[in-house]
Amino acid sequence: MTSVAFLGLGVMGGGMAARLLDAGFQVSVWNRSADRAEPFRERGETVAESPREAATGADVIISMVADDDAAREVWLGPAGAIGGARQGTVFIESSTVSPTWITELGTKGTACGCEVIDAPVTGSRTQAATGELLFLVGGDAATLERARPVLAPMSRDILHVGPLGSGARLKLINNFICGVQAAALAEGVALVEKSGLDLNAALTVLQNGAPGSPLVKAVSTRMATRDYTVFFKLGLMRKDLDYAIAEAARHGVDLTTATNARALFDRAIDEWGESDFSAVIESLRKPEGSN
Ligand code: NAP
Repeated sequence: MTSVAFLGLGVMGGGMAARLLDAGFQVSVWNRSADRAEPFRERGETVAESPREAATGADVIISMVADDDAAREVWLGPAGAIGGARQGTVFIESSTVSPTWITELGTKGTACGCEVIDAPVTGSRTQAATGELLFLVGGDAATLERARPVLAPMSRDILHVGPLGSGARLKLINNFICGVQAAALAEGVALVEKSGLDLNAALTVLQNGAPGSPLVKAVSTRMATRDYTVFFKLGLMRKDLDYAIAEAARHGVDLTTATNARALFDRAIDEWGESDFSAVIESLRKPEGSN
C-alpha cells in the first residue's frame, strides 16, 4: 500500500488529507498548530510530531502550506521532511509558491535521490473537501505517473503542463488574473454602493453580463453581503500577486494590473488579512483619508 505524508492541514490541506484517508491510503498527517490535526487524531489517524516524522517511511510526501517560507520550513527546516525521506520518495509541492522555490526544492530533493513535482491546485475549500481539484503539474512525466494514483482521489483532473516549476508558474498566472478581477469587482461594487445605485439590480447585471466570470459570480455576493467566511484568505491572495509580479519581472513582463490590484489588497491587509479575499472591498469602504 502506498504510504503518504501530508504536511499542512489548513482550509485546503485538511480536505485533501481527508480525501486520501477516505480512499484507503495510509496517511501520516502533520500540522504546525496541533488544533488543526485534532479531527484526524479523533478519527484514529496517525498524527506526526514533525514533518520529518511524517515523512519517515513514506512513498509520497505532499506539502500544502501557506507560502515559500512555510514550505521551506516543512521541507528543509530542522525537523523538515527531507530529513526523514528515503531514496526514491516522490515529493509533491501543492502549495501556491514561487517557481524559484520549486527549483530549490528540486535541487535538494534530487540530491537526496528523491523525485520532485510541483502540483498546485485550482478550486477552493469545497473542491478540496469533495475531491474536485484541478492539479497543474510540473516535472517529469514518469514522476507524475508515480504520483497520479495519490492525486486521483483529490482531483477532477490532473494536467501535466511542463517541466518542473511550470505548474507553479501557471498557477500564479491564474491567480493574478483572479486577484485583478476581484480588485476591479471591489471597485465596481463600492461605486454602486456610494453612488446610490440599486445594489441587487447592479449585481444581476454584473453577474449575468460580460463581466460575470465564475469568480465574479461567487465573490460579488460575498462582497455585497459582507460574508467573509474564509474560502481563500486575503493574505494568501496578496502573496500570489507578489509572487506573480516577481515571476513576471524575471521574464521581462511588467504586471501593471497586478501591481494596482496588490495596492488595494495592501490597504485591506492589516484588518482583513485573515478574512476571505472578498473583504478587499473593505479598503474602499473606509472613510476617506483613513489608511
Ligand atoms: P490556510 O488555511 O491558511 O492554511 C495554511 C497552512 O500553512 C496551515 O496548515 C498553516 O499551519 C501552514 N503554515 C503557515 N505558515 C507555516 C510555517 N511557517 N511553517 C509550517 N506551516 C505553516 O491556507 P489554505 O487556504 O489551506 O492554503 C494553503 C495553500 O494552498 C496556499 O499556498 C494557498 O495559496 C493555496 N491555495 C488555496 C486555495 C483556497 O481557496 N484556499 C486554493 C488553491 C490554492 P497553522 O495551522 O499552524 O497556521
